[in-house]
Amino acid sequence: ELLSSNVSDPGQIARAIYDVEEATSIAFDIIFEHKMIKAETRASLIKFLQLLAAHHPSRRCRKGTAEFLVSFDDLYPTDFWATGKHDKSSVKNLKICGKDVPRGYWMFCRGSKNETRGFSCGLWVLLHSLSVRIEDGESQFTFNAICDFVHNFFICEECRQHFYDMCSSVSSPFKKARDFALWLWSSHNKVNVRLMKEEVSLDTADPKFPKIIWPPKQLCSSCHLGLDQKNNKIEWNQDEVFKFLTEYYSTTLASLYKDS
Ligand code: FAD
Repeated sequence: ELLSSNVSDPGQIARAIYDVEEATSIAFDIIFEHKMIKAETRASLIKFLQLLAAHHPSRRCRKGTAEFLVSFDDLYPTDFWATGKHDKSSVKNLKICGKDVPRGYWMFCRGSKNETRGFSCGLWVLLHSLSVRIEDGESQFTFNAICDFVHNFFICEECRQHFYDMCSSVSSPFKKARDFALWLWSSHNKVNVRLMKEEVSLDTADPKFPKIIWPPKQLCSSCHLGLDQKNNKIEWNQDEVFKFLTEYYSTTLASLYKDS
């Protein structure tokens, strides 16, 4: 009960496919609502759409993003911003994951308070799901697409800055999908560790879902090699972590919802 959905019920993740759709749909609603597509962000959105069209775990989001891509040049021609006529009311109603989404509620990412979890949890689950669906040859593209998307379109200012710093500290291109998935996992854990400390003093925490270094032993015992006593840090078996991530975000997530 203490660690709630992070630990107690691995089967819960299967319900996260709904939240991945919800987060995708809300992300685009925010982009349209706040007119975030600009001359300087256009290319990065196209990149992220390409990634989603190929690898989003939900078929209907793949379809919606592919359709948006097909009409992107008509909706946002490169001279769009120069003309000064920016009424895109048709785009405002664009439902990227089909007409039923957003549904207005969260499943796996539901917080115990209205203002906790939800969208940012759903976005993480989407990003991890993408990281275990790509091939080696797409790993650097995926890294760029995700880093630029978060930097340009994530509504949380502090998050985009922190994430951008982590992206900027990567010095050599990713060649393996495994390395990218592990980088994302480790970056998420860095955020978790920071929030473990910060949330003590902030009111933004969800008491039912305390931040943890993930995955805990209860979810993946083979991932844990032990504790490095000197640094007080967990030593990981990265092969096992990658196996676990793939299982968790690919097989389990997709199992309930193959045809969506
Ligand atoms: P989340 O951290 O959102 O995680 C969702 C689910 O992912 C968990 O329930 C768990 O099942 C799984 N998970 C947890 N850790 C890992 C991991 N290491 N690898 C794989 N799966 C994991 N908030 C801030 O206050 N400051 C920030 O700088 C900040 N940066 C963010 C950057 C990004 C890119 C995103 C998407 C969010 C960021 N947030 C930040 C929000 C914050 O990380 C959480 O999303 C939010 O606090 C809700 O937490 P949660 O308990 O729902 O779990």
